[in-house]
Amino acid sequence: MMKSWALLLFPFLLSAQSPLTPSDSGKRPSRLLITNALIIDGSGTPPNGPRTLTIEGNRIVSITPGPARPNPADRVIDAKGKYLLPGLINGHAHIHDERAGWPMRQDYQFLTWLASGITSVRDVGSNFEKSLALRTQSDRNEIEAPRLFLYAVLGINPSPSPANEAALRNRVRQIKTSGADGLKFFEISNWAMRIMLDEAHKQGLRTAHHAAVAETNASHDIQYGTTSIEHWYGIPDAALPDGVQNFPPSFNHQYEVDRFRYAGHLFRQADPAKLALLLDAMVKANITWSPTLNIYEAARDLLRYQTQPFFKQYLHPALEQFFAPDPNNHGSFFLNWTSADEAAWRHNYRLWMDALRDFARRGGNVAIGEDAGFIYNLYGFGLIRALELHQEAGFHPLQVIQQVTVNNAKMLGKDADLGYLRPGYLADLILVDGNPLADFRILYPKTDGVPQSGKIEWTIKDGIPYHAPTLANRVRQIVAQDRAQPQPRRSTPSGQDEEAH
Ligand SMILES: [Zn+2]
Repeated sequence: MMKSWALLLFPFLLSAQSPLTPSDSGKRPSRLLITNALIIDGSGTPPNGPRTLTIEGNRIVSITPGPARPNPADRVIDAKGKYLLPGLINGHAHIHDERAGWPMRQDYQFLTWLASGITSVRDVGSNFEKSLALRTQSDRNEIEAPRLFLYAVLGINPSPSPANEAALRNRVRQIKTSGADGLKFFEISNWAMRIMLDEAHKQGLRTAHHAAVAETNASHDIQYGTTSIEHWYGIPDAALPDGVQNFPPSFNHQYEVDRFRYAGHLFRQADPAKLALLLDAMVKANITWSPTLNIYEAARDLLRYQTQPFFKQYLHPALEQFFAPDPNNHGSFFLNWTSADEAAWRHNYRLWMDALRDFARRGGNVAIGEDAGFIYNLYGFGLIRALELHQEAGFHPLQVIQQVTVNNAKMLGKDADLGYLRPGYLADLILVDGNPLADFRILYPKTDGVPQSGKIEWTIKDGIPYHAPTLANRVRQIVAQDRAQPQPRRSTPSGQDEEAH
């Protein structure tokens, strides 16, 4: 009798565990079990499964082989045939709520990031006061947003004097006191960079350098100990045989058509032997390279970027205005872009990708960030495109996932808490109904005309599961609403830092 009772009861007990449904989006269960999952842990090692991953509160508490033994109170996701990865970290981004004065709802950006599997963002230049408030709200999970790490921009370049040195050091200390996670600087003089970096080290601030064509380049980053080099400028510059790029006499750095056109000739002018030595020195100086491969890609393939299938459902009208060629909008420089320009940029990309691989082979930390909101790049979509481009550069998909999780966490100095799928780590992860190692495009938010898109089911940030397809649907609704009721342009932009890419 007992036996048949048990048989009757057993399937009932199993069904007593409560599966997570889209209506649970945004609510943190006290205990969440993800069963039967194939796990990619971020360390570069291959998938492993089936495993049961258990989250209590906002931490991963265990990853165990075999079937789960849930309590009736547990919430459960059956991940049979699905892949579980660390949440993606967007290593270079800008928090935007407007573009050139055209208003854009903040949740448009944040929901797109979450729908694209992004659970952490390193902001390297935005309206700092506004972003601080958003970071607090995100930390408290009062808004639907990834974790935000804020790098304050220091754009001053004073002349050398004891008074200016004291002011510069004071400014760096103020940035630290204000709660910044790091300091971002660009186009800076040798003197100011030396002072600034020295003070940043004393204050324990991480640093990000966008070199551009300036007095300082990667050799100064090596000398003074910058945490990360953004984009790629400053690296070939430091390997030019004569120390200067062969610009035509008419070149004007301020004019973006010139600047982007001749940037496409930079890598080929670098001396390969000098470049190899430089990459070695960057590795020894523990510098991370954060290349943002996607943000310049329109320069090698303009029509691809202007006709992206994602635009129909996801391009916000403010971005549409901003992206249209206009010398007043940063990055909207395609006034008479030619096939010759694209050929030069394709060559530049091949050399850039080779240098990136060479840097990684020598032991360098390669990061991944999207820098979206400029040059036809949509938030979230830009990061997924960057994954495709790192694959094109020759990295194995497992390495690419490592770069966008663990390597980015190292760049942030947060790799004891973020980046890995391991017990003890914060519960930031994504569940994908498909194998991203076979095709990164499955990570794009669901898009008509891109049949493989929309395969992220859950983005879990800080133990809170967000149903990614529902978020993507809300983003599409925001876009449709804002197109139907366009907001007037503000008289002046709200003080976003438009950086020089
Ligand atoms: Zn940027």
